[in-house]
Amino acid sequence: MRQSQMFIPTLRETPQDAESLSHRLMLKSGMIKQMASGIYSYLPITKLVLNNIEQIVREEMNGIGGVEIHMPVLHPKELWEESGRWQAYGKELMRINDRHDREFALGPTHEEMITALLRDELKSYKKLPLTLFQIQTKFRDELRPRYGLLRGREFIMKDAYSFHVDKESLDVTYNDMYQAYSKIFSRVNLNYRAVEADSGAIGGSHTHEFMALADIGEDTIVFTEDDDYAANIEKAPCVETEKPSGEFKTLEKVSTPGVKSCQDLADFLNIPLKNTTKTMVLKSEDELIMLLLRGDHELNDIKVKSYFGIEEMTLADEADIIEQFNASPGSLGPVNTKVKVYVDYQVKSMSDYPTGANETDVHFINVNHERDFDVEGYGDFRFITEGEYLPDGSGPVKFMRGIEVGQVFQLGTKYSEAMGLNVLNENGRSVPVLMGCYGIGISRTLSAIIESHHDDKGIIWPKNVAPFDIHVVTANPKDKAAAEAAEAIYETLKKEYKVLYDDRKERAGVKFADSDLIGLPYRVVVGRGIKDGIVEVKARSGEESQEVPVDELVSFLN
Ligand code: ATP
Ligand code: MG
Ligand code: MG
Ligand code: MG
Repeated sequence: MRQSQMFIPTLRETPQDAESLSHRLMLKSGMIKQMASGIYSYLPITKLVLNNIEQIVREEMNGIGGVEIHMPVLHPKELWEESGRWQAYGKELMRINDRHDREFALGPTHEEMITALLRDELKSYKKLPLTLFQIQTKFRDELRPRYGLLRGREFIMKDAYSFHVDKESLDVTYNDMYQAYSKIFSRVNLNYRAVEADSGAIGGSHTHEFMALADIGEDTIVFTEDDDYAANIEKAPCVETEKPSGEFKTLEKVSTPGVKSCQDLADFLNIPLKNTTKTMVLKSEDELIMLLLRGDHELNDIKVKSYFGIEEMTLADEADIIEQFNASPGSLGPVNTKVKVYVDYQVKSMSDYPTGANETDVHFINVNHERDFDVEGYGDFRFITEGEYLPDGSGPVKFMRGIEVGQVFQLGTKYSEAMGLNVLNENGRSVPVLMGCYGIGISRTLSAIIESHHDDKGIIWPKNVAPFDIHVVTANPKDKAAAEAAEAIYETLKKEYKVLYDDRKERAGVKFADSDLIGLPYRVVVGRGIKDGIVEVKARSGEESQEVPVDELVSFLN
């Protein structure tokens, strides 16, 4: 490809508002353009890399018998009502109406769609097991889209679904997927770790997340030195703190009119959604209870860690507040009590919690009774911290940050039962089909690759995903002989490699800066040496360039 015909709008300045390295580098190297919050156009370089990642994913999916399909982006509301997720998915689900005012969702994931597809087609266990996948655009109205393609509102996902008549078969495919994912993430050169993950409200299910190790990662991985144990901190055992004694209100009684998400909550409390402190005025006891119960509990699509000190009553901590509250109900919650609220939050996926005791206007969805509190008293638990030991004595645990690039999940019969996907088994009995679902964030994986493959000059593409193999650059566009030689080199290399040929009439400095930014594995500079039949070859990952005779170039690059 000739660079003069390409569309690579590189920037000279580093965009300051981009918060992550991959986001900055993608903007700077002309890979993406933001069209709205969390919504990007993928420019040619991005498209080429995505194609490469997708190809690797396809090969590995096909390798375990996965068959590619393509399902609609528009999902009729009725399907999501059948699964109960029209309500439970909350604000992350993008919804639109057609001209007849029929409602649709823009697919954030396709369990409903594929279950509906197969319930009409699958009749007998003899067609099972079956694994279908697609690579497609997904829509999620993320609370905080950020870090460029790492958390977009419109992004590309590979989602696979498997169907089984028994658990053994599901286990086999789950394991195949796990292996395929390991191969995929190795092939795209990610330093990753598979960790046990929390199955959220689906409960009891078997699931692993694949985490690309990176400081920018929004997840914390807990692991032991010997690697016997590795889990998302959400899944790691909680540590119990002392239980304050006494009666406490049950969660069911807490009513927060209109509050269904953390954004609502923030609006309700009139606080911004970031680490913040704010003096606020409580209007009722219920509000106070709500605040107390927010400590370290999962709250709809958000995990909120908070603690409070009451400004004008110097109470030491949460337990103190509870004690005071229990000692004389009403004493802390009268109208106009001033409370200082500290909110530290982490965005959680709604899809992690597709169900739950989610009644309209009752807020504490996903607080698990046994784990997070008991109705008798008020049990308090906290996350394990670095250096502590696990309940089984192993440890001490270490922490690392990770980007969730993929997840494999045994769904069981959740969707098949809700939506009537049954087959006749060997004995002629109708049984619900067991399902697994398996996602990979394709566009997120691309960003994760950049997070770990770059230097201060730009991206350093691993060979397997690089948009081109070789960058042929003419140093001086006015040098006719060099330009002609470069043309010839381009034509030759093109036969064996994917070549980007910088034939632009730009200064050498600009071309080299762009070339470093774009980060192809090899650069071939056609400069003054060409009159002696010599070009300069430099690996993007190395320091030194080497002089290579033109007629040895192909064998050198091999
Ligand atoms: P997260 O915890 O980061 O919100 P998730 O658990 O909600 O992700 P899944 O429902 O497991 O995501 O979707 C499968 C994969 O899709 C994820 O492992 C991730 O790689 C990718 N993905 C999810 N949300 C986004 C997003 N907003 N932007 C880009 N990729 C995403
Ligand atoms: Mg997740
Ligand atoms: Mg999510
Ligand atoms: Mg996930």
